[in-house]
Order: sequence, then structure tokens, then C-alpha cells
Amino acid sequence: MDKNIRICIIGGGPAGLSAGMYLEQKGYTNYTILERLDRVGGKCWSPYYNGRRYEMGAIMGVPSYYAVEDVEKFCGITHDGPKLNRNYKNARGEVIEPFEPKKNILKIPRLLKMKKQIKKLGELLETKYKGYDLNGHRGVAEGRYDGFAVTPGRERVQGVNENLKDLALPFKEFCAKNGVELVQDVWIGPYTSFGYGYFDEIPAGYVLKYLDFQTTMNFVKVNLWTWKEGTQYIWEQLNAHLKNPARLNSAIEKVERKDGKVFVTVNGEVEEYDKIIVTAPLHIPGKRADGQKGMDEYFDVRDDEKELFSKIDYERYDVQAFLTKPEDHPEISYYVFDNMVKEKLGHLMVYYRRWRDEIDQVITTYALRKHKDMEEIPYEKCRQMVQDDLKIMKNPAKEVINEWSVYYFPHVFSEDYAAGWYDKVEAMQDKYDTFYAGEVMSFGDMDETAEYSRELVERFF
Ligand SMILES: Cc1cc2nc3c(=O)[nH]c(=O)nc-3n(C[C@H](O)[C@H](O)[C@H](O)COP(=O)(O)OP(=O)(O)OC[C@H]3O[C@@H](n4cnc5c(N)ncnc54)[C@H](O)[C@@H]3O)c2cc1C
Repeated sequence: MDKNIRICIIGGGPAGLSAGMYLEQKGYTNYTILERLDRVGGKCWSPYYNGRRYEMGAIMGVPSYYAVEDVEKFCGITHDGPKLNRNYKNARGEVIEPFEPKKNILKIPRLLKMKKQIKKLGELLETKYKGYDLNGHRGVAEGRYDGFAVTPGRERVQGVNENLKDLALPFKEFCAKNGVELVQDVWIGPYTSFGYGYFDEIPAGYVLKYLDFQTTMNFVKVNLWTWKEGTQYIWEQLNAHLKNPARLNSAIEKVERKDGKVFVTVNGEVEEYDKIIVTAPLHIPGKRADGQKGMDEYFDVRDDEKELFSKIDYERYDVQAFLTKPEDHPEISYYVFDNMVKEKLGHLMVYYRRWRDEIDQVITTYALRKHKDMEEIPYEKCRQMVQDDLKIMKNPAKEVINEWSVYYFPHVFSEDYAAGWYDKVEAMQDKYDTFYAGEVMSFGDMDETAEYSRELVERFF
């Protein structure tokens, strides 16, 4: 592609900013990043309280976050945040140690079985499901793999593997099919409580591409990265180091694609580009959240775009940031496994104490209020349920100082995944001088989205 083409990037989150970085590194400097908010980072949002930053969005990474590492190197920063640790409580607020055999004598046979099944899954992923962990979902529904390995060299690998079609199954079914049901006890912690839905509804492809074996083991060993100035800082730094930093307060009103050009109306002015990369939500309403527009509200969407993007669903993930009285401050972060089942929809699943050295700091809570087969819990009701749960946990909130309900983890369900949704969308890349990137194309975390942008630039520019 001509290095001088004019490229518009919608969104100043991890996907949009890293697309800018990778384009620039490849010699494309005529790009413009448009961000509707007055800050960059998207779902990496780290506001200040009492001189320190807390996390309303993304919190952590793992050592296999290679795209995030690219960004760190580009900016000369590192993951220098507080060390994470956590304990567990049951729904009655009692501290438990579910994985400690000495504390669960009666559970020892189950724990031993679980350990065996984890080993078995590890082996299956290496052999039967070879290629499962590549970024993005290209070819999976057809039993192929094509992408970059999540090992240090990140070499490109391609191949045929019919078994990969199993990744379209809901993760619960995938585990049953492979006789590894008990691994869900471990995978659920960094999955459901992190807002990514329930194992009986979400295709295994999403679960295992995010929680590949190596990443899950990093969670088990609490071998995790955080950033002192918050995850938003990564993207603020990247923005500051780009040749063309994002233009803030630039909500796009209209996108028209005709005669090989892209016309973007922003703040009342029409701008002309050659290509556009969309990292903003692709979903088509009636599904709305966060005041973000559905694509058909400002794009001249074509029939194929409309058909495919109307299949996208997303999670309603609610975060509250609260203060406590000193005596009510939790001593550590807590996971509440009992509340990570759909029957406990809307309840508190995890709460996070970021600054262990200070108690006049913010605690954040996390709850899901949607499952595909259940009635959605209204926002206000869920908010109250979480606060009631905090009382049960003996860490009641004194005051909520920040809260949001996030348009979270856009995805498709098993039927569409198996019917080749991803290959159809991948075949549309560049068809209308438009490239689709961001969470739905890979997975809703910082690294998968940034890595997808890397691949997109590698493949098409
Ligand atoms: C509570 C929470 C916890 C999380 N925890 C983690 C974690 O621990 N680790 C991890 O890796 N990830 C985590 N994530 C997920 C991670 O933050 C996201 O997956 C990542 O930010 C996605 O990047 P993105 O650029 O695709 O989308 P986003 O971050 O959503 O960025 C999209 C950007 O596009 C902008 N935009 C939207 N519409 C328009 C428009 N019309 N015009 C212009 N701009 C527009 C938005 O304002 C936004 O800035 C968490 C997220 C949340 C909310």
C-alpha cells in the first residue's frame, strides 16, 4: 500500500493507539486517531483519588502480553505497579481457601481430580487443539489456524486442524467433551468474575484464546503485571509518543464511503481519507450502552455489515468505586466464587484493593447482570445488590465515588461462531476501504486488541 495514504482510526483506546504505533513503525505516518472522549485509554481508565490512581477499567496483565510490551518499549515505561494478591470468601462472607487440601479434607479427591484434568487439558491444547491460542479467530470454524504464536518469538504459524471446530462449543460443553469438567473451577476466577460471561454461554474459543494455558498458570501463580499510574498511563504514554496523537473530543457524526474515499464528519467538518480503521463498537442496536453509538447510527452501513454486526452481543459489566470507614476496609482483594454462577446474576463477584499500604483509598467492585437465557437485571438493582453483598462481606461501603456500566466484551454466540462469523468479517476487511479491529475481532483485553492491531497492520499495510 502507498505509504502516504490517509488513514482514519476511530477510537483512542488500546486498539486504536496501537494501530497508530504499528502503522508508524511500518512507515505510514499519515494517520489520524479520533477519540470521542476528552481522554485516551478507552476501557483503561485510571482516575485519581487522594493523589493516587485507582482502576475503573483494566487492572492487570501477564508476562505474555507481548503487544503491551511493544508499547512499553516504544515509550520507555514498564509495569511498576503494586503487587496483586487475593483471598477467597463464600457468599456468607466467610474467608475460605478452596484450593488448599489441608483446609478441605473432604474435597481432596475432587482437588486431586482437578489437578489431573488441568494437566490433561494442557496436553490436549498442545496436541489435539494445536493452534488454539493464536490471536484472533481466523479459520477456526473451518478447522484451520493462521496467526502469531503467543511465545516469545511470536512466529507466524499456519495449519489445518479439524479439532479446532470444537472451539465454537460453549466452554462448559467443550470441557465435558474432553473429560476435563473440573478445570472450570480454576478458569472461572479470571474469566467470569472479570466480566467475560458464563461458561455455558460463551464459546471455548474466547475462553481459551484469552486464558491460554500459560496465561492461566500465570493467574494461578499470581505472576501478574500492574502499573503504578494505572493501565490508562500505558496509553497516555503511547499517545504522547506518537507522531500524531489522538484528537480528543472528536465524536464522529457521519462516515460515508464512496468512490474509493472515506468522508468523515467530525465536529461539523467533513474530512477526507483513503482508509478507515474502526476500533469503536461495531454492534448494531437495539443494543446500547455507555452513550456509544451503534455503527449504523453514523456509518453508511452495507447489508453485509448490518447482517453480521447485528449478531454481536456484549456483557453489562458494572464497576463501583467506593470508600469505607477505616475499620471496614478489606485487608486484601477477595473473589466470591459462589457468586460466579448465573443463578447469582447481579451479585458481587470480586472486589479489588489496589493499594495495600494505605486504607484511605478506593475499593472497586465487579458484577455482571446479563446471561443470554435470563432476564437482564436493571442497573440500579444490581448496584444495590452489590452494596448489600459488601455488608455481608463485612466491608460495607461508606460512599460510592465513581461507577459505570461498561459496554464489555463484544462477542458472538456458538451458532454464529460455528457458522464462520469471523471468516465472513475477515473477508470483508478493506472491502469498503474499512478495516475492523478492536475487541470483538480478538478478545476483550488490552493485549489481544493491541496484538490484533499489530496483525492487521502486518497483513494489510
Ligand atoms: C472493569 C474492566 C476491567 C478490565 N480488566 C482488564 C484487565 O485486567 N486486563 C486487560 O488486559 N484488560 C482488561 N479490561 C479490558 C480492556 O480494557 C479492553 O479490552 C481494552 O481497553 C479494549 O481496547 P479497545 O481499544 O478495543 O476498546 P476501548 O478500550 O473500548 O476503546 C475504544 C475507544 O473508542 C472510542 N470511541 C467509541 N466510539 C467512538 C466514536 N464514534 N468516535 C470516536 N471515538 C469513539 C471510545 O471512547 C474509546 O476510547 C477491562 C475492562 C474493564 C471495563
